[in-house]
Amino acid sequence: MTATPLAAAAIAQLEAEGVDTVIGTVVNPAGLTLAKTVPIRRTNAFADPGLGASPVWNALTIDQTGIAFTDDVGVVGDQRLRLDLSGLRIIGDGLAWSPAGFFEQDGTPVPACSRGTLGRIEAALETAGIEAAVGHEIEFLLVDALGGQLPTALWAPYGMVGALEYEAFVREVTADATSAGVAIEQFHPEYGPNQFELSLPPQPPVAAADQLVLMRIIIGRAARRHGMRISLSPAPFAGSVGSGAHQHFSLSMPEGPLFSGGTGPGGMTKAGQSAVAGVLRGLPQAQGILSASIVSGLRMQPGNWAGAYACWGIENREAAVRFIEGGPANPHGANVEVKVVDPSANPYLASAAILALALDGITTEAPLPPETTIDPALQSEADRACAGTRLLPADQMQAIAALNDSALMRRLLGDPVVDLVTAVRRMEHDRYADLEPAELTEKFRMAWSL
Ligand code: GLU
Ligand code: MG
Repeated sequence: MTATPLAAAAIAQLEAEGVDTVIGTVVNPAGLTLAKTVPIRRTNAFADPGLGASPVWNALTIDQTGIAFTDDVGVVGDQRLRLDLSGLRIIGDGLAWSPAGFFEQDGTPVPACSRGTLGRIEAALETAGIEAAVGHEIEFLLVDALGGQLPTALWAPYGMVGALEYEAFVREVTADATSAGVAIEQFHPEYGPNQFELSLPPQPPVAAADQLVLMRIIIGRAARRHGMRISLSPAPFAGSVGSGAHQHFSLSMPEGPLFSGGTGPGGMTKAGQSAVAGVLRGLPQAQGILSASIVSGLRMQPGNWAGAYACWGIENREAAVRFIEGGPANPHGANVEVKVVDPSANPYLASAAILALALDGITTEAPLPPETTIDPALQSEADRACAGTRLLPADQMQAIAALNDSALMRRLLGDPVVDLVTAVRRMEHDRYADLEPAELTEKFRMAWSL
């Protein structure tokens, strides 16, 4: 993370383009996007020494009131939010945006910072000679200005009618993305009423998560212009379709990509197979990072294409890990999609968990279990056992306990990250586990919105 300041000429250029205000964002362990803004002349000060923030920023919970204090995070202390100006983008109407991270006042990184954590994993991969790329998907629901349901009569799953109903919104998102330098891959009506999906191009891990945050901001702003808002809840309405935040990743070494050109299933190399095996092996322990908010369990059910079964399969949409073969139809090449992730997760930490598990699989030469070639729900217990398939719990506290007790995740991500994620998620459970699904989905429909 660089604190390279912008030259006076670069600031002048931004001003000439109409920028008067710079927004810096961080994402905390509860998946909340937090922000500070400065006038353009303060941009470099926001990068170094940074702006003050209490350590409790990383302990803020999703209910607008809670702070999940831990042994390390209390009311005393002050950290610095520092912009990484290499990620600065102009987003229109006088605004520029830049990703930020948490640092101590002496400039050392805060171990619980999600962006810093992913940066450390990216560096560990590089040290192992591995280059990673991550591609994010954004599923979201359009709702009215108060978070209520919009009319659903004119909707069909993936229907043209949805694109027409929201034509101006769709075009503005596309145009705003382009002018902010985001080359979106595709944008379309999804399965659920008023649900859309947008796919982002693969980028290095930290840059990919930054791009995801930027795109959520862009979508939220475009929706507002039309009197709407976006719900980024994994389960916006009880008993209806959920939203995922699937992450695709690919790995390559100087010899070539790990997920194609090999002799293993789907063309995987030996290291590629071990990477997938590493992710699968750690999924039950990583679920607490990937999808363990108080509403995540409503989505994490077989049949929801959410990857409730921890197994892998080529183009298998019910497998937690879907392998996508390379070839002319996939110009970005073979990649691995982790479907378990949902939009209540911190995307930096989710990538960090996935990639750290993949690297751990490679370094320990983890053996790839047999492929699951059908819907795992239709398999016999014996077949599932043979592939090592496990049904991921829909119970938040089971996922949190598995994370909390995981020496592996603690080694890979560090105690401060695990302690804070488990603390904020536990508080959700302690306060709201008694609510019925309809009450839960309503209460937290807009918790992660931008
Ligand atoms: N909406 C589904 C989910 O919650 C994913 C649908 C898809 O595979 O695109 O993960
Ligand atoms: Mg989808």
